[in-house]
Amino acid sequence: MSLVIGAGITGLVLAKREGATIIEEQANYGGLYGSEEMDNVKIPALPPLVGREKEILEIYPDADLAEIGLSLRIVDEVHLRSKVCPVCETLPSWIIPPRKSLFIRNFPEILSHLASKVKIVRGYPVRITNGTLFTNRGIYDFRTLLNTGSRQRLNRSLGLNERIDAIGCLILEVLLDRKIGDWDVYVNGKSGISFSHIIGFPDNERLYYIYSFYHKGKLPDVDRIILDLKRTRFIESRENVLSLRARYINECLLYGEKERQRPDFLRECGRLGAWENMDLNGAIRSALEC
Ligand SMILES: Cc1cc2nc3c(=O)[nH]c(=O)nc-3n(C[C@H](O)[C@H](O)[C@H](O)COP(=O)(O)OP(=O)(O)OC[C@H]3O[C@@H](n4cnc5c(N)ncnc54)[C@H](O)[C@@H]3O)c2cc1C
Repeated sequence: MSLVIGAGITGLVLAKREGATIIEEQANYGGLYGSEEMDNVKIPALPPLVGREKEILEIYPDADLAEIGLSLRIVDEVHLRSKVCPVCETLPSWIIPPRKSLFIRNFPEILSHLASKVKIVRGYPVRITNGTLFTNRGIYDFRTLLNTGSRQRLNRSLGLNERIDAIGCLILEVLLDRKIGDWDVYVNGKSGISFSHIIGFPDNERLYYIYSFYHKGKLPDVDRIILDLKRTRFIESRENVLSLRARYINECLLYGEKERQRPDFLRECGRLGAWENMDLNGAIRSALEC
């Protein structure tokens, strides 16, 4: 039997392909894109914007893909890498989305379709021996272990050491009382501003995602981001924010050196398993070829 760790898009596609059970630590499936209710509408926790349709149609031929021409406003791009991830050699492609992008309108439906085809149990690995996975909630035997969850934490359960690490990010989803600016994506590389990205949700002109990246121990807080939204004159006061959700992701941008030698029973894919800053298409491709 195969076991998959992680019910993000990679884990869901992989488990469906392999007929495997998934171990997921969160109550929700979908990983970074897990859906949330806001303003009585189910929206993905990140805007599902991709550069090509191939992988999406491969896993869900009924995907509703809308071609959009994004208007980008980029301030101080030369300092963006040192602000977002100074230790990364390059930034992932999604850091500046392509002007010609595809918006996946029914992404929550794609995730729930995939989740309906697989068995997901709650938990996370505590210890792994050859053929047995001990989680905080149960014990499972496996022939192959397919990891799409945190490679850093899996290493600990296996007693392995790699020099890999991550930059964290705070993602805010905010519903404002108005549309701000005449752009769809605003990127700011200035170090004095706590956020780097504001991305408008294509299907709701008052809904925005705001990204702020952080290094260990230096967590940005929501009040500071609101203050900076005022300083940059996008809002006048807290009153302009009708609704807000905050999510800290510790393993947001990944870097370091991986070891080639890994246990024979283990296959690793997706962004966290392969420990690579892949885009959504890349994650699906890695699941299809894992
Ligand atoms: C801020 C941000 C913005 C992005 N924007 C874009 C974009 O616009 N376009 C694009 O193409 N790509 C974008 N990406 C990249 C894209 O989101 C990812 O490549 C893709 O979602 C990866 O899916 P995944 O399933 O591999 O990982 P994840 O979605 O991270 O899923 C991993 C799952 O594993 C679970 N898990 C982790 N560790 C454990 C454990 N030890 N035990 C049990 N479960 C565990 C997690 O809870 C999660 O459910 C963005 C990424 C980030 C961080």
